[in-house]
Order: sequence, then C-alpha cells, then structure tokens
Amino acid sequence: MIPFIDLAPQQHRIRPQLEAAFRRILDHGAYIMGPEVYTLEAQLSAFCGASHTLSCSNGTDALALVLMAKNIGPGDAIFVPAFTFAATAEVVAWMGAEVVFIDVLETTFNMDPLSLEKGIQTAKKRGFRPRGVIPVDLFGQAADYDTLHTIAEKHGLWVMADAAQSFGGTYKGKKIGSLAESTTTSFYPPKPLGCYGDGGAVFTENPDLLKILQSLRIHGQGEDNDKYKNIRVGMNGRMDTIQAAILLEKLTLFPEEILLRQKIADRYSHGLQEVAQTPFVRDDCQSAWAQYTLKVDPSKRKELMEGLRQEGIPSVIYYPLPLHHQKAYSAYACATETLPVSEGLSKTVLSLPLHPYLAPDTQDHIIKTFCDVSTRVAVKKVA
Ligand SMILES: *Cc1c(COP(=O)(O)O)cnc(C)c1O
Repeated sequence: MIPFIDLAPQQHRIRPQLEAAFRRILDHGAYIMGPEVYTLEAQLSAFCGASHTLSCSNGTDALALVLMAKNIGPGDAIFVPAFTFAATAEVVAWMGAEVVFIDVLETTFNMDPLSLEKGIQTAKKRGFRPRGVIPVDLFGQAADYDTLHTIAEKHGLWVMADAAQSFGGTYKGKKIGSLAESTTTSFYPPKPLGCYGDGGAVFTENPDLLKILQSLRIHGQGEDNDKYKNIRVGMNGRMDTIQAAILLEKLTLFPEEILLRQKIADRYSHGLQEVAQTPFVRDDCQSAWAQYTLKVDPSKRKELMEGLRQEGIPSVIYYPLPLHHQKAYSAYACATETLPVSEGLSKTVLSLPLHPYLAPDTQDHIIKTFCDVSTRVAVKKVA
C-alpha cells in the first residue's frame, strides 16, 4: 500500500541536522521555552510576513488562546464554516459561546460570504452577540479574506484565520499569516509544515493581542513573566523546545516543498480532469496543498475507493460529515435551515495521497489506476 503521507524521505534529508539539534538541546537542557522557541518565532514571522508570532502547543490551542484573549463567552456568536475539521468549532464550545455554522462555496470549499451575512442575521434573531468570524483555508487554499473582511467590518466583527492547512500558501501575493488580525496554524506532523509531535502558532498584527497571548500561554502570568503572579486565567500552551528545533530545520526545506506540492497537484489535475472534478484554485491564490481533493460521483465513491484500495492506493474522505450534523455540534445554530453545499460536499469529495516526495512514477501509477477504476465502475464526472 502506498502511504497516504510519507514523512520519512524528508527526515532522511535533514537527519544529521536534526540529530545535531537534539544534541544541543540535551546539552543546554532548556526543554521548555529554550532559545530555539524564540528563534523559531522570529523565523516564522520573517517567513510569512506577520508582525508577531507566538508559538504554542497545537493548532487547536492556538485558536482557543485567541478566543480567550478576546474574552469570548456565553451569548457571544462565532461564525465557523460547517465543512472543516472539528477543532475550529470545538474551541468556541469550550468558551461556552455559540457556534453559528456557515455554508461554504462549491468552488473553493471555503466560507461563503453570502451565507455569512445570513448567519449574522440568524445570530441576531436568536439574541446572540455576533463577535468574530473564523474562516478556514480548507485543504491549503486561502478563504476570500477581502470579501469576508468587508462583511466583518460592516458588523463590527474580528476575523481569525484558521490556517492550519494553508501555512505556506499565498492570497493576492501575500503569504498566509498576515491576512487577518490573527491567524492560527498547526504543526501536527502531516500538515504542510509539521513537527514530530504537537505544535502550533498564532500570527498577529496586533502587539496588544500578542502581549495577552504571551500571558495566556503561561497560566495568565503578569508582565514581569512570573508564572506565580496570575493576572488572568490562562493555560499551559507552550511549544516544546525540541519541536521548535525540528521546525527550524524543516523550515529550510519548506519553500522548495511548497513548489513540489504544486507540481504534483498540477500533474494530478492534468491526468484526472477527464474523470473527476479536479480542485479549483483561484488565479490570485497559491495553495499549500495540505490535501488534493477531488469531487466524484457520490453514488460511485465507495466503489471507486475500494477499487483504488485493491491496487494499493489509499484515499480518504475529508470530511464525511459536516460539523452541524455531528452529534456533538448538532444543537448549534446554522446560517440557514440546511447548509446544502457542505452537506453535498461530504458525499462527493475524495482526497488522494500528496506529499512533496511522492515519486513521479508513483503519481503516474495513481493517475492511471484512478482513470482505469473510474472507467470500470462507470463514474460520471460531477459538476
Ligand atoms: C489540524 C487542524 C486544526 C487543529 O490543529 P491541531 O494541531 O491538530 O490541534 C485546526 N483546524 C484545522 C482546519 C485543521 O486542519
């Protein structure tokens, strides 16, 4: 079986540098908030053009830290796309606030601005206070930040970009990381930039927000960085020094890896366009290609996946159930009675293996097999 994501070839490229970095940490012993953590924060800011970077424990905590900094609580409405990973909505529920699910666009799979407008009206009708929007850059492509910001500003809402899948990508020539007041990402190993455990970051353009986040990350400590003086309720949200050191090494390969991902996506799209709806990427966006996701005939998806599996090719459904249909989130509000695009996509999408080191002959084998199986099970191309 071809691995869906293979992290070994990348490790092979930097193994000596990683071992040297581990030795340095074993020697200096600053396992928590060691010098590598601060170096990483500076290098991430330089890489993506964000004014400030706060490293943290994981991508979910990154989202939660910002909600805590914004004092989000009961009665506050936060607008979240229904077609995303659970973490985006989960953190809102942690705060006791109201998730309002928004539908996504059929083209980019990202938050639909019209549905956001409807969601804001729905929230007001229910007596909630609209506070913030969390667009997600699904599968690596940025949401439409210009349009979403216009709506957010009109209603006095802040925007936090969930860029867990898109770090490394661009929107209108700007790197993901400085497109909203705050942007969060995840360094979970299979993400485009991953460490060897859990890790995450918040990027922000707001120095006051940064100060609060620094405090929240270490148990709400005071200005003099004394964790035994707690001026607010915080958490343990630190990134391990060892993960920061790993990310510093991986960051050196990252620009090249983004190009490699793009090349594979192009080859897939060229080879599969006759049998499936290949991913749409806006002309003014560069995807980080966290996932390569096709739309296929929903009545044949299962057969197609089974046919691929028999030939040793894994495929995965991201996501089989939109969040408003998940048991844990079914009581929360939706922008409209149904969210037809999110509901439809969960029945039609299919993701193929994509990582920077997927060999060209493996790519061709995947393309050929996908076309053969599609013909055999008579898959019809969907719109
Ligand atoms: C992975 C992911 C997260 C959570 O990141 P973790 O580091 O796993 O906590 C949040 N949002 C989205 C869209 C993700 O894909």
